[in-house]
Amino acid sequence: MYDRILRLELPRPAKIVGFADDIAITVVAKHLDLVEFYSNETIRLVRAALTELGLQTADQKNEVLLVTSRKVTETITVRAGGHYITSAPCIRYLGVHIDARLRFEEHLRIVSDKANRVAGALLGLMPNIGGPRSSRRRLYANVVDLILLYGALAWSEAAKKQSYTRRAASIHRRACLRVFCGFCSISHEATYVLASIPPLTLLIDERSRLYSRRLESVGSEERAKTIEEWQAQWTRSRKGRWTHRLIPNITPWIERRHGEVDYHLTQLLTGHGCFRSYLCWSNNDTSDLCPVCPAAVEDVEHVAFRCPRFTEEREVLHRLFGGPLEPEMLVGFMLETESNWLAVSTFAHSVMTRLRGAKRGQEEDDRMMRYKVCRRAWVRSPLGEFSRFVFFAWCGRACARGGAGTTQKEDPGYVISLRSGKKKNPITVRAGSDRITISRSPRRGLTKLAIDGAQHSHDEVRSENHTHKRAPDAGAKAQLERMMVPEARTTLTR
Ligand SMILES: [Zn+2]
Repeated sequence: MYDRILRLELPRPAKIVGFADDIAITVVAKHLDLVEFYSNETIRLVRAALTELGLQTADQKNEVLLVTSRKVTETITVRAGGHYITSAPCIRYLGVHIDARLRFEEHLRIVSDKANRVAGALLGLMPNIGGPRSSRRRLYANVVDLILLYGALAWSEAAKKQSYTRRAASIHRRACLRVFCGFCSISHEATYVLASIPPLTLLIDERSRLYSRRLESVGSEERAKTIEEWQAQWTRSRKGRWTHRLIPNITPWIERRHGEVDYHLTQLLTGHGCFRSYLCWSNNDTSDLCPVCPAAVEDVEHVAFRCPRFTEEREVLHRLFGGPLEPEMLVGFMLETESNWLAVSTFAHSVMTRLRGAKRGQEEDDRMMRYKVCRRAWVRSPLGEFSRFVFFAWCGRACARGGAGTTQKEDPGYVISLRSGKKKNPITVRAGSDRITISRSPRRGLTKLAIDGAQHSHDEVRSENHTHKRAPDAGAKAQLERMMVPEARTTLTR
């Protein structure tokens, strides 16, 4: 039935495109009045043919778009039945938003918003610790790609302008990061390799190539081309070089039949984790030196391949491999068999867990933490009364700074301000095995807290509902601590 519409004798500059119950008419002409004339004429012919077939058109639903490269914004008005329709700056046709300049900026903005919402919802399903394994996560991440790549062949030319696709690429990367539980500081290049998902620009390019050869079955051929280009970019890039040292060739990595990447293995594969060099680089530590090896920088290579602290764990791998393992051999060894992969994964887990534990202990010992932690707790006095306290812990360099309601001390200690409770006499409470004495200082409303003389430790007074307040260069560290030590919440004796 529709064929009759498609075979209509139309004016020469007009063409007709039909899809399901949608009809699009395109008219190409040099002047506006000619465009209007041919459009009106074509619409009249199409409407007449439809009426003959016994079909009615919803004229008020028609949309008009004037595509022009002229600087001045122009509009046209065409007639459809009894309705006059003025051209809009952007229309939606078959799910693609087409604008007057064919820049597809608006389309990319709309799909990016949508993909962002979906990615946000998916991130909730995929926490860095726990959650589904990486192969399942990749499936979820593909949902974001499908949204972003819809109609890519229409706008692939526009995507060559980087500023248009920047936001879409960043959403794509965010979804990829969650596939292998990586830190957001990992470079784009390493992210795509570890997630085994090609960069967005290459995917867009692949879609448009596939469309131009849609009559042939060339899916795998085009994918091979994409991977070749991806490999060239990965080799050329100057970012993610540790990952590149481990995984120089993309193909065996992405085509592997076994092996899940998780939070701990990712730290080993990227070098972004609880290593002092990384923490120092991200302003979360004061030194990048290994605490046991003199003059050695504690980076991923040192921890995983050199540091004597982890010899025992390393020995297990060496026995399996049949000799000492170097960074360049690691991934090849993992890809050989599933049991090798599991051995490396277990190694990464135990090394990273121990390193994180050591890091925490060291932080508490060296008193060089440069942040302020504000804690609220209910403390019971010997008389059985409850008082609500706000604790401010000052350590190391932060001693020089202060704020309202706190006292500054050179010796690391706790200064608390009594926000409620009217007690004037010193209160002694027990927290774990320590005695905490709280006494009122001569300054207004301030109360002093001492834990068994000089033995202060954060854990001993960490309350259930502590909050971290931002002090100079502190927020990032407090956040890092929260991120890395989710279980570190001890309860103050109530
Ligand atoms: Zn060391």
